[in-house]
Amino acid sequence: MIIRRLVKKNIRMIKPYQATELECRVKLDANESPYGFGEALAAAEGIETNRYPDPEAGELRKTLAGMWGVRESNILHGNGSDELIYYLVAVFGGPVMYPRPTFSMYGIIAGIMNEEAAGVPLGKGFQLNTGRMVKEIREKKPRLIFLSSPNNPTGNCFERDSIIKLIKAGKGIVVVDEAYQPFSSQQSFVKLIKEYPRLVVMRTLSKVGLAALRSGFIVAQKDIIDEVNKARLPFNVNSLSQAVAMQALGNRRKFQDFVNAVVEERHLLFDSLDRLEGVQPFPTDANFILFRVNNAEKVYKMLLARGVLVRNVSDAVKGCLRVTVGRPEENRIFVNELSKILKRV
Ligand SMILES: *Cc1c(COP(=O)(O)O)cnc(C)c1O
Repeated sequence: MIIRRLVKKNIRMIKPYQATELECRVKLDANESPYGFGEALAAAEGIETNRYPDPEAGELRKTLAGMWGVRESNILHGNGSDELIYYLVAVFGGPVMYPRPTFSMYGIIAGIMNEEAAGVPLGKGFQLNTGRMVKEIREKKPRLIFLSSPNNPTGNCFERDSIIKLIKAGKGIVVVDEAYQPFSSQQSFVKLIKEYPRLVVMRTLSKVGLAALRSGFIVAQKDIIDEVNKARLPFNVNSLSQAVAMQALGNRRKFQDFVNAVVEERHLLFDSLDRLEGVQPFPTDANFILFRVNNAEKVYKMLLARGVLVRNVSDAVKGCLRVTVGRPEENRIFVNELSKILKRV
């Protein structure tokens, strides 16, 4: 009680991000890849544990610069992209704007930093309500807009033209969060940073098999990177992560094979869900599927009781759960348990 009184009011009001570990046999709740890079751990062997990591993550940024066709000075590294959201809000401040529903960390971090945050409801087919957003941008003059494309938890990409319209509508920074871009057919916005000086593209290794590393990046014009870099803690990405990421990135083919396998499974999983009576899956460009059921809360709990963990997103999208595409065997168990449950609720 007394400690609570010492805490700043904006922090007291924050509902923490749900990242609890629940016991389960099939884990399909966090949009992780079912495939990892265990062999890349060998790169940790030579690390001198008594030395601080390379503060600039130079080799890693150089490798990524080559992959993305930008300069090293266009990339900043974070301990996951979550950390970079923190830095962006610290540096540019609010109002912070984003469509709703979307990735909850944008709002949570704005709250922690005591910045005003505005969630603008999505329109038809979970697309951006461009007219309404342009209006809100003119009224509220956000200094930061976050657009997750593909969007979490809805799974769809936002239309390219809508995103560009929003970049042009205001004077603030627009962050296109491409955490799920590898699974989509939408082209990356990285190429557009030259054309749009207020555009920031956010990427992460978390959804493509390296969530354990906590390794995320922003790509933008150098003046943005230099400003955000002032907020960065000196040794934010540890040596093990840097080394293992480098090693894993050396095998581009493997990344692509994993992504292809997930996308292929996604189509099969979508069709399986679509065939179930009482289940409405929504089209997706990501490594997860949003689906509607009658009594989402109950279905969620019954799945968990059978060892299948999905994400209950019914707070954000009425009646919906979100399932990550897992290995074929995991997806089969999930569909099988779900179909049994549906006969009982
Ligand atoms: C999972 C996710 C991230 C990833 O964050 P990391 O901190 O890099 O693991 C970022 N944005 C969205 C929309 C996500 O769903």
